[in-house]
Amino acid sequence: MDRRRFVKTVGASAGTLALGGTSVLSAAAEDVESLALQPAQPMGSDVTVDVAVIGAGVMGNWTALHLREMGLSVALVDQYGVGNSKSSSPGEIRGMRLTYGEDEHEMLWARDACEQWKLRGAEFGTQMFYQCGGLSFRREWTARNTVERALFDKHQVPYEVIRYDELVRRWPQAPPPSEEHFGFYHPWGGVLSPRDANMAVATSFKKKGGKFLLGKAAPGARAGGSLQTVTLSSGETVSAGAFVFALGAWLPKVFPEVMTGKLSVRKAAYNMIGTPPGDHRFAVPNLPNTGLGLPSINGAGFGLLINPTDEVDPDEYERLPSADETARARRTLATRFPALKDQPILHVWTCQTENSVDGQCIFDLHPEMDNVWLVGGGSWHAFKIGPVIGDYVAHRVIGEEQGIPEANLSGPELAALFKLKAETFA
Ligand SMILES: Cc1cc2nc3c(=O)[nH]c(=O)nc-3n(C[C@H](O)[C@H](O)[C@H](O)COP(=O)(O)OP(=O)(O)OC[C@H]3O[C@@H](n4cnc5c(N)ncnc54)[C@H](O)[C@@H]3O)c2cc1C
Repeated sequence: MDRRRFVKTVGASAGTLALGGTSVLSAAAEDVESLALQPAQPMGSDVTVDVAVIGAGVMGNWTALHLREMGLSVALVDQYGVGNSKSSSPGEIRGMRLTYGEDEHEMLWARDACEQWKLRGAEFGTQMFYQCGGLSFRREWTARNTVERALFDKHQVPYEVIRYDELVRRWPQAPPPSEEHFGFYHPWGGVLSPRDANMAVATSFKKKGGKFLLGKAAPGARAGGSLQTVTLSSGETVSAGAFVFALGAWLPKVFPEVMTGKLSVRKAAYNMIGTPPGDHRFAVPNLPNTGLGLPSINGAGFGLLINPTDEVDPDEYERLPSADETARARRTLATRFPALKDQPILHVWTCQTENSVDGQCIFDLHPEMDNVWLVGGGSWHAFKIGPVIGDYVAHRVIGEEQGIPEANLSGPELAALFKLKAETFA
């Protein structure tokens, strides 16, 4: 839908800047209560907005905020709550890195996101990004690593190539896997606090007049090729000119007709490892994000990543580590972070990855509905670029296809990367 048509549609069907008959200003005043206190009972009336964003993970939150900042009336809906523990966006830690091989657009988005996390952190009064650098260990200059380095040079992003003995001197608490390894360090990497970020973004959305609704949403009435409503578990409806379904691992559950086989949904986790008393070597800013192990933020513990294992149903599976996963975490600590090998596991943040067939995010229109956006496929790397995703998707919703001139990518070329691909996992 192009911008003119979108504005015309929402003007006719929803009433620009109206929230269920309530003006934006009075809605803002009403919504000052904490997001955590969102009532579980029905809202008492149906809601009409310009755009309904379903899913309050990192993608939905940022998209809703950007749309609201564009002046549109927006409802953000989640079945379990903002950044909830069943989603892919919860917990205490996520990594920020700019190393994306030959994927120039990802690298540039990560670079821009670094800046956005800092600016928005200052705006919200909440630190969400801790810039302690990113460190990858390498044994050789593969073709991928060589292209990646060339992209850092091209865009003048600072980095250092660090010899083994210098790595051991600077970060003895996280030695390289072998003496043959060297380090690729970039100071713009670091770690993010999802818990703080999810709440801060959604709270800003509400303060700016956005409406947050707790409920499970299902596509409702259609008119021709457009969706008119979503129905909530309470029985109430949300009518809108456009719908953004940022559903993470739930995309195939809500849209089986187009999403079956398009995502691989697997259990993964961060083990939060305790550190010895008074030992701050494993906390920001004293250790970079090493990918496998992330430095502790605010005493939460050192985040040790467990790679994806079983296929799971995000509504059903128990977020408990198996004996094998715990044994794997212990082995990794012993070999890669030996000073932590006998430290307690404080807790395990288990959530699911939702990988797309080509590892690219999916930002595409539903093939049969011209006002329904399918948003997801974070593929294990989308948290860090949340602010940029929100801006990009919000512009797509109003009919603007932004490109990345620095990477010689036009709007249509970039949009093609994010299309729902024909291939499936099956
Ligand atoms: C262990 C692990 C480590 C990771 N590490 C990193 C990292 O270091 N760096 C990084 O950038 N990324 C990382 N990621 C990836 C990143 O966290 C995810 O890609 C991202 O959080 C996905 O966000 P999302 O908004 O698409 O989905 P989600 O966070 O899952 O949000 C979807 C939301 O939709 C809601 N929903 C679904 N269906 C409905 C419905 N019918 N009605 C109402 N609401 C509904 C759900 O309740 C949920 O809240 C990691 C992921 C995992 C699992």
